[in-house]
Amino acid sequence: MKTDLSHLRADFPILSRTIHDRPLVFLDSAASSQKPVQMLDAMDDLYRSKYGNVYRGAYTLSEESTAAYESARSTVARFIKTSQSQVVFVRGATSGLNAVAYGWGLNHLKAGDTILLTLMEHHANVVPWQMVARYTGARLAYTPFTADYRLDLDAFAELLDETVKVVAVTGMSNVLGTIPPVAQIAALARDHGALVVVDAAQLVPHFPVDVEQIGADFLAFSAHKMLGPTGVGVLWGRMERFEEMEPYEGGGEMIDDVQLESSTWAPIPHRFEAGTPPFVEAVGLAAAIEYLEAIGMETVAAHDHELTTFALERLSEIPGLTIYGPEASIDRGGVVSFTMDGIHPHDIATILDGEGIAIRAGHHCARPLARTIGEPATARVSFYVYNVPTDVDALVAGLHKARELFDVA
Ligand code: PMP
Repeated sequence: MKTDLSHLRADFPILSRTIHDRPLVFLDSAASSQKPVQMLDAMDDLYRSKYGNVYRGAYTLSEESTAAYESARSTVARFIKTSQSQVVFVRGATSGLNAVAYGWGLNHLKAGDTILLTLMEHHANVVPWQMVARYTGARLAYTPFTADYRLDLDAFAELLDETVKVVAVTGMSNVLGTIPPVAQIAALARDHGALVVVDAAQLVPHFPVDVEQIGADFLAFSAHKMLGPTGVGVLWGRMERFEEMEPYEGGGEMIDDVQLESSTWAPIPHRFEAGTPPFVEAVGLAAAIEYLEAIGMETVAAHDHELTTFALERLSEIPGLTIYGPEASIDRGGVVSFTMDGIHPHDIATILDGEGIAIRAGHHCARPLARTIGEPATARVSFYVYNVPTDVDALVAGLHKARELFDVA
């Protein structure tokens, strides 16, 4: 490994705990990442010394909380290279994608229209579209992937006919690790007049992202997968698309005026932030972003890449182990899903837990993908800035132990 980030481990209190008397080896960051003290302190400080509901009061605490919340918005804007007004704080990637499906889709789709998804989407980028398709009469179509687990761009070009009004695509598969060429897909889709929605839940935490360069219309991600807290995420959108979108939720803070029969909306982004927003969490997200910026997103990506290359190499030494995802670590993130002959993925995860190693097993909220590969469940390991090559060594040793226990050695 050329990129050594092992000094960061001291910032993550949880990494010093033991699980079943073994040092914790955390390999499930794709589900949710662990948290550095810098992020925890930022939230703690706001709760302890500046806390007051935002926009509400002409008193100092409220003003300080409001300033901290709006400053978090500008940190996010800087991180994804956009303007503050295009950053809407939502509950997470799931609620961002629902806000688009309901707020835009419900008002713009009709019978005869097609919503084009991919077979590698997380349920968060499938189910909201199914719901909106049911309301509007639009139909769903899915771009398949190739034998080497890349998005099938020829099939995409064929499916992209004049009925397609929405193209919703993952920025990075949480199962395969595949990174589809979203900028290329967005350009093709926009040429056809389709709305382009990117599920960036796995992309933004791990790669430098310039939303304007991607060229989508909407893009959503969650704080908790990028060293931030749960309960907050971001929906980015093009201003003209936000203007076409109806608020998905109504309530306080999102209105301009409320009459008995109707209301008018506050300016964007507040229009899409009904109720007391997760402002403490937004401040936590900003601290997480500052932490990532201090490392440098190029370095974060390089570190993930080196660790993934090493893991792919080491895992391929294990007899009877099948990896689902691109063989080469090019255009591939730090997620490796696999099965082992003769051992169910849940048993793999349980045996590894006994060794202090946390991995994920199951369908990973991507049932259409699981069905396509013919495996209802896989085991999955995923990496982030605090992982080190010895984590991969521990994983490999644990998998050998599983083979012995199941007598498949
Ligand atoms: N999309 C992808 C690709 C994901 O990996 C996840 C989280 N597993 C989500 C969407 C949903 O994120 P959240 O649960 O934070 O809304």
